[in-house]
Amino acid sequence: MEYDTIIGLEIHVQTKTNSKMFCTCPTGYFQKEPNSHVCPVCMGLPGALPVPNKRAIELCMLMGLATDCTIANEIYFDRKHYFYPDLPKGYQISQYKNPICSDGSVTLPNGFEVKIERIHQEEDVAKSTHHTSTSESDYSLIDYNKSGVPLIEIVTKPCIRTAKDAKDFATQIRQIARYLNISDADMEKGQMRCEPNISIQEKGRWEEKDGKILPIGDYELNPKVEVKNIGSITAVEKAIEFEVERLTKELGEGRKPIQQTRGWNANKNITEFQRSKETADDYRYMPEPDIPVIEVSNDDIERIKSELVELPHEKITRYMNDWGISQYAAEVISASRKDASYFEKLQTLLFEKLEAKIAAQEAANWLMGTVFALEGDKEIDMNDLSLLIMKFKEGKITKGKAEEMLKDCISNNKDISDELDMFEKSASDNAGNIQDIVKQVLDNNPKAVSDYKGGKEATMGFLVGQVMQATKGASNPNDVKNILIELLK
Ligand SMILES: [Zn+2]
Repeated sequence: MEYDTIIGLEIHVQTKTNSKMFCTCPTGYFQKEPNSHVCPVCMGLPGALPVPNKRAIELCMLMGLATDCTIANEIYFDRKHYFYPDLPKGYQISQYKNPICSDGSVTLPNGFEVKIERIHQEEDVAKSTHHTSTSESDYSLIDYNKSGVPLIEIVTKPCIRTAKDAKDFATQIRQIARYLNISDADMEKGQMRCEPNISIQEKGRWEEKDGKILPIGDYELNPKVEVKNIGSITAVEKAIEFEVERLTKELGEGRKPIQQTRGWNANKNITEFQRSKETADDYRYMPEPDIPVIEVSNDDIERIKSELVELPHEKITRYMNDWGISQYAAEVISASRKDASYFEKLQTLLFEKLEAKIAAQEAANWLMGTVFALEGDKEIDMNDLSLLIMKFKEGKITKGKAEEMLKDCISNNKDISDELDMFEKSASDNAGNIQDIVKQVLDNNPKAVSDYKGGKEATMGFLVGQVMQATKGASNPNDVKNILIELLK
């Protein structure tokens, strides 16, 4: 039996605001004293009234605009009820029928278009820590600092067919969030969490209509499995691959899979059963009576649109088309907004002396070869770096020496222009000595000299190398070659 894989993805992203979604408590809870950022609203005390955070709603819209969604002109909040200790009100303020953003899409590097059903605004829950021991003192602690932190949920249609595409989609969402400063999307800190839902269906016996998977004829759809709270992008791909294999095996052995929620165990690289669902959860959604409808004008939307910048996938296409940069290099260079701005600045500077494509190629090579690998907190001056690259292009410094200098400057916090000045000064000091060094090298290598005179021109490279070595790379290989030719006459 052949099966198709059907994947939908839900991604939660904490947005970057100073205060929480419905109160003025600060959001920066990481490594803070537990329960130090709380108030009656985010503790869910009776009578406390929520006031929506304008900036949070703008960031939700910005994510929608970056993913080609339609933005609603009226914002409604709803209550989603469930009982859990980390949810003090007994319900979460979320959005049900009318999300802020709907019907968007994201195009992956391979050209596949992932359709986004909705992006809605909600609030994060508190953090529980379960302490278990063999004694009778098992207990749980709850920290409400995270309770009420703005959260957006991005929901795709079940249109994804491979684990790799799901991973690429999550990667792209993370990049967009970072580029637009919507979120740092640091998955280790829980700022972004992914929840894929997966099912496998017999080939040719189902169809997709308006983002819904429907059976054809008397075929009975296999239920889907949800994998909760995955905290790394690689794990998204691994968890889906694991589930596809597990589900295929179950069906192969004649067992019907059951609808269930599973968790990802990162240590064992497997998913684990958490709970089964007979029917869909009944959250008893109802309109949030404490928040009136918020009107959004088209002018508001235009103003938020002005925060959009060229996004990574747009940069990749431009770098490849305009400058002939390889897809791999274009992806590396545009991975972060900072790296892309380095690249574009360096390309512009080199373009003053070099042809555009060569300038782009040199900029990409130097950044990927040295700068990105070593880059720490130090800002690297692209003016200085372009000077260094031009010295190399003009043959005034060897590539090895230039790279060594660059690495030294990055690692030891030195200025490239200072180092370059010192290098040029010592090179000119050496110039007088070079004649002597060249003579010395010729005296020491009589065989190479006679070979060269006998017509073996390749020996020249060896002799230049010997001189460069003796001057510790401090001289210009072209000058050395000229002196050698002169003296060998
Ligand atoms: Zn609060």
